[in-house]
Amino acid sequence: MEMDTPAAGTPAHSAVPSTTDPLTPIWHPSPNFGPRRDGLKPSLIVLHYTAMNNAQEALERLCDPVHEVSAHYLIGGDGTLWQMVREEDRAWHAGAGEWHGQNDINSRSIGIELDNTGQHPFSDLQMQRLEQLLRQIMRRWTIQPNGVIGHSDMAPGRKFDPGPKFDWLRLERNALAAPRGQGDSPQTAVQIQFRTLAQAAGFSADVDDETLLSAVRLRYRPWGKGPLQHADLAPLTT
Ligand SMILES: [Zn+2]
Repeated sequence: MEMDTPAAGTPAHSAVPSTTDPLTPIWHPSPNFGPRRDGLKPSLIVLHYTAMNNAQEALERLCDPVHEVSAHYLIGGDGTLWQMVREEDRAWHAGAGEWHGQNDINSRSIGIELDNTGQHPFSDLQMQRLEQLLRQIMRRWTIQPNGVIGHSDMAPGRKFDPGPKFDWLRLERNALAAPRGQGDSPQTAVQIQFRTLAQAAGFSADVDDETLLSAVRLRYRPWGKGPLQHADLAPLTT
């Protein structure tokens, strides 16, 4: 099949806007915002799901002065993008919690709500729009991938969004969230813990893992064999 070729100098049309095209969100202002405290600028982006039936319901709630909640952006399941609060301002989406020892996350972040009940997968159109938006916010405020977090990351036990259906790996692969470690955990974690405990107990000589394990076993459990076990940590744990 022959394709129409655009005339020279005319950009080809694409159904998906390129990542450099500025997004033009539908401006739907919310009264629920204030100034960022202590002159803080956004260094984090917090992702949420709305846990509501549809985007329209969520939009109403996020703009209702009675509920005193808001976010900077809402992305519908079909990829529609609304903006409710200017990025310069402090939206009310994060609440109590902390990340890297810092609180008042609302003053440090931009909040993005994703139209999703929390029970079903996020559509590809919605994820594409999110990725475009993340790229642009990250560029505007010089936010690194490790600044993109979930609500449940900063409010564990209290919040569960964006939830188990959210595709973090997709964001990680696109450098839009911090890549997860590839360590052979939990063995790696146990090894680190063992070394820390052994050092605290006095075994501070600079030796490799295997030699350290042999030395600790000679002292406490000379019958011990094979790879590091939890039992090897017990004599070091007070
Ligand atoms: Zn949330």
